[in-house]
Amino acid sequence: MKLDVNALRYLTKDDFRVLTAVEMGMRNHEIVPAELVDRIAGLKHGGTYKVLRNLLKNKLVHHDATKYDGYRLTYLGYDFLAIKTLVNRGVFTSVGRQIGVGKESDIFEVATEDGTVLAMKLHRLGRTSFRAVKSKRDYLRHRRSFNWLYLSRLAALKEFAFMKALGDHGFPVPTAVDCNRHCVIMSLVQGYPLVQVKELQNPDDVFDTILGLIVRLAEHGLIHCDFNEFNIMIDNDEKITVIDFPQMVSVSHRNAQMFFDRDIECIYKFFNKRFNLTSEENEEQDGSESDGEGNSRPSFLSVKKAAGSLDKELAASGFTRKEQVEMEKYIDEDAEGHDSGSDDDDEVGDAVPIDSLKIDRDHSDEPNCTLASRDSGVPGTFSEEHGTSCSGENRLESSPSGSNGDAKEALESEGKMLSQEDEDNDNSSSDDDDEEEDAELTKKLNKQRKKAIAAAHGRRRPVSSRNAYKDKGKGTMNSKIQRQACKW
Ligand code: ADP
Ligand code: MG
Repeated sequence: MKLDVNALRYLTKDDFRVLTAVEMGMRNHEIVPAELVDRIAGLKHGGTYKVLRNLLKNKLVHHDATKYDGYRLTYLGYDFLAIKTLVNRGVFTSVGRQIGVGKESDIFEVATEDGTVLAMKLHRLGRTSFRAVKSKRDYLRHRRSFNWLYLSRLAALKEFAFMKALGDHGFPVPTAVDCNRHCVIMSLVQGYPLVQVKELQNPDDVFDTILGLIVRLAEHGLIHCDFNEFNIMIDNDEKITVIDFPQMVSVSHRNAQMFFDRDIECIYKFFNKRFNLTSEENEEQDGSESDGEGNSRPSFLSVKKAAGSLDKELAASGFTRKEQVEMEKYIDEDAEGHDSGSDDDDEVGDAVPIDSLKIDRDHSDEPNCTLASRDSGVPGTFSEEHGTSCSGENRLESSPSGSNGDAKEALESEGKMLSQEDEDNDNSSSDDDDEEEDAELTKKLNKQRKKAIAAAHGRRRPVSSRNAYKDKGKGTMNSKIQRQACKW
């Protein structure tokens, strides 16, 4: 999907306020009644409707008048909300060219203030074949309101948590930097997907390394489930980096053995076909060994799964049980549709020079309020954190502004006011356990995020992003409210 972030520079605070109102409404409505958007946004003199027209023109919302006059966010609208949040946090300052198109994601380069280039993965669940979409719709039909944005957010959250945990345990994965909503920021992998590589200096070594990784993952309690030439990056020194984690499962999953064998089989097949590497049958004849322990392919049953308990660690910290179950249901539905089947995967999109899409971050005293354009000079001051950040510090902790108090009332009177601590897009206010787990997760990921951002920047954090992390308790009431309103 084309991501023209130019429009982002010209959106005003009211535009974002209304866009945010649509997102909030989508927690309870597939299509949000225009009137509800208006009440949440709380703009004066029917301003919401004018803004909605502008958002519609920029394809940030979709209008649906089938049952009533209503709106929903488009992926582009969701992209903008996530990008704005991350820019305001100081994670990156500009968006560049598209570097990858997955089945269910788009990957772009982004650059930090000091010029470090990172990768931004925007999850787009539901972009698969019609059949898959239909089966997922069937699965989702019992939900109070199903929501592709919600599933994409889950995928991002899971990917971020797994990437972080795997990196911490020494697996060759990109550095997990941050995530918000359906967007994951990670280090840019130097190299190419293995599928693009026609020749290797040491195919045997690479083959062994890759098989070793599958085994080591299982020893740590995890199976990648999409471990193939599309999700293995390799650089000029033939160093491997594994990517793409939303479908990972625990070795205790009921289909674990099948997933493990499938990952192994994908690697055998690919190396056999592309590099003419001997298969296990031939190995027995020519006496070569594939895994250093014998001449047979790694078997799930013989893997010692006690070396680590990453799956448990993740279940405890990275991703709530409920979310894991939701994702697994989704994955099960799509069990056949993994990357190896898609020929047009990973094609590179429009090349856009990274500087041409520079997004300016606000550098005013109020931290992280805006993504206003230097050209327009409009300092956006409203924004309301209720998105799907992995970080607690950007959560909405109190009513963000006077005018939004009205929205709160309106929603409460409808019985639809959601916990402001809760950023879940769906079913979120109902489950106390999950909220506790969310709070725990938030704390942990928050710490990780800070570390990762610092690591990615290599040095210190930019001043404005440091400001964003400062004590929120100081200052006048007004500035407190102002700060709250500014947090995304
Ligand atoms: P999907 O889940 O949609 O398959 P992937 O995570 O596999 O998405 O990414 C799709 C493509 O984007 C990859 O094949 C790769 O070319 C590129 N890509 C993804 N992550 C990175 C990264 N961190 N650095 C460089 N390229 C990446
Ligand atoms: Mg992939």
